Amino acid sequence: MNAPGSSIRTITVMGTFATIEVVGEASDPKQIAEREEAIERAFEWFHRIEACCSRFEPASELSQLARQIGVPVPVSEILYEAVQFAIAVAEESDGAFDPTVGAGMEARGFNREYRTSRVIHTGIAARGANYRDVRLDPKRRTITLLRPLMLDLGAVAKGLAIDIAARELASFAGFAIDAGGDVFLGGCRPDGAPWTVGIRHPRDGRELIDAVRVSNCAVCTSGDYERRGAGGVRHHIIDARSGTSATMLASVTVVAPTAMIADALATAAFVLGPDEGIRLLERHGVEGLLVTPTLQRHATRGFPSDYSILQDTKGPADDRLRDPAGDGGADRGLQPDIWCSR
Ligand code: AMP
Ligand code: MG
Repeated sequence: MNAPGSSIRTITVMGTFATIEVVGEASDPKQIAEREEAIERAFEWFHRIEACCSRFEPASELSQLARQIGVPVPVSEILYEAVQFAIAVAEESDGAFDPTVGAGMEARGFNREYRTSRVIHTGIAARGANYRDVRLDPKRRTITLLRPLMLDLGAVAKGLAIDIAARELASFAGFAIDAGGDVFLGGCRPDGAPWTVGIRHPRDGRELIDAVRVSNCAVCTSGDYERRGAGGVRHHIIDARSGTSATMLASVTVVAPTAMIADALATAAFVLGPDEGIRLLERHGVEGLLVTPTLQRHATRGFPSDYSILQDTKGPADDRLRDPAGDGGADRGLQPDIWCSR
């Protein structure tokens, strides 16, 4: 339960709501100020990473990189880290996950800047390009695009932002970061118990399909219910090998030590489907729950499923969830003690 003393704030960033709660006492103005300043610094990272990694912003470092083909381009640590990690996941998933899907995403109607609704048109024809066309030089910290292509870091940037924001909050006994349903839970809740995270039911947004009790780890979910494309495009997760929306799963939830790992591996497993998806997660020592469109569940052996959380709480799930207004719902008598993944 979120104590009256916790500081909590919500902003809009990266096309979604981001909420941060830091646990503490209500009575000490100095502590309150410290918490609020830390939350401010944590959110600043979200803005910085968005400004760097967005393919919707012509001035972003990522967009500038896409205009320089065949030359090594020195990039910031943030961009390098995000691209390097995304390429590693592409290798691990044999190209099912592939951060070079940017032009394909744009062509499928994922082409609107969320704040202005402006349609972007990069004019990049990336026919045949894949992650092998991206060269990384760790010593010089440069990225070379060997042919025209647009990187899309939509499956890793939010996770990276959550992890860096979490570093800003590491000195507090308890904190929670929620970026559009990808969450990181640090330490403990105000009552000293581990945090609880409900996992959204992929076919009923008001219900939870499972829940976990966690501390110092991330819970990220990829679902086919999130964003729709233009025309016949089903949703926003593409099998990069075929160029069409991945259909074997309805949702994948990953519990991992960092949000970048959980975010990217959830997307990768979503494309790979239940069998290969489970193998990918187990190979990397993280836990996951994969749900098929017919609601069959496939979980890793150690997935920390805890139904008692769902039984403990009564009423429709959406009343029990973290209120997106970010005020903890306290004024309306809500007890939003469950964070929700997606
Ligand atoms: P998530 O919501 O975390 O599963 O990430 C989905 C986002 O990842 C999409 O909105 C795209 O930006 C990007 N994406 C979609 N398909 C792929 C893919 N096959 N490989 C890498 N990134 C992808
Ligand atoms: Mg993801």
